[in-house]
Amino acid sequence: MPEEAKQYADSVVVGHAYKTFPQALMDWKRGELKEYYEDTNPCFGGIPLPRRDLLNKSGYISINTTQAVFGCPCKCEFCVISATKSGYHHRPIPEIIEEIKAMKSKLIFFLDPSPIEDVAYIKELYRQLIPLKINWMGLSTSKIVDDEELLSLVHQSGCAGLLIGFESVSEKSLSRMNKTFNSLEKHYRLVKELHKRKIAIMGCFVFGSDADEKSLFKETVDFCLKTGIDLPRFTVYTPFPTTALFNKLKAEGRLLTTDWSKYNCQNVVFQPKNMTVKELEDGLEYAWKECYKIKNIIKRLLSARTRFLWMIIANLGYRFYSQDHAKYK
Ligand code: SF4
Repeated sequence: MPEEAKQYADSVVVGHAYKTFPQALMDWKRGELKEYYEDTNPCFGGIPLPRRDLLNKSGYISINTTQAVFGCPCKCEFCVISATKSGYHHRPIPEIIEEIKAMKSKLIFFLDPSPIEDVAYIKELYRQLIPLKINWMGLSTSKIVDDEELLSLVHQSGCAGLLIGFESVSEKSLSRMNKTFNSLEKHYRLVKELHKRKIAIMGCFVFGSDADEKSLFKETVDFCLKTGIDLPRFTVYTPFPTTALFNKLKAEGRLLTTDWSKYNCQNVVFQPKNMTVKELEDGLEYAWKECYKIKNIIKRLLSARTRFLWMIIANLGYRFYSQDHAKYK
């Protein structure tokens, strides 16, 4: 929403900013700042290595983060990444390897939202990570479970944990969200295959799609406990501006607010279909609290048997959050 942002800024850099943000700074220095900058043909080769030494290390969980792949070609109804229409791009592999070596860390975080769509590229990246003998954490879609070689490379390259958007345990809801490459059968298979390789799972679930019924909250918690999702995360279905979901709810007159500060995935900002706002809020609260009861943390982690120490710490952090969930809205 660059025009809205422009009301509060002298200049707005839209989209990928590797080239345009430095350009904006140079223009500003010369007194020639433009109102908008947008790189319509982004290229991800030759990005300078970041000066991580300038960062205050204590201010971050880790400063050793990098990105290999940008964007996503999938079309999930709610997703801001697909809504930006900024294409699907990747960086040259030698540059990523050079960056990782320069970090001199044994634990790297990949921030790529959807890395496995170009399978040949990502397999080659994972192959080239193997000799570095690092551990890494990142994201993936459930499609990973359909490719045995990819699963094996993820494991061999040192993957310690993946964030997976399961989104829902309801087939109807997955279909409503246009996330049809997910299914309940695949959810079970995916958890089993990742845990077999000692890969911990941060499992993300959303509540509030038009296909969701009130029974879904308990069904989701039961799934997390039964499969041993290492670190479950729950959010409210949120219609971010410009997404297909936003356009639909706006057309139906169901948006309750356009105060964007409430659009943080923990507030209900639209009128749900099969439940009240309060029921959706209570269901979200229930899922957080139930999954992060001490007995359920132990139950999940004993079932997962991945990185016990790391996961205990992460779970206790999330338990703290879940106990006072309303405070963070
Ligand atoms: S939710 Fe994930 S798979 Fe779907 S469009 Fe967004 S990034 Fe892609």
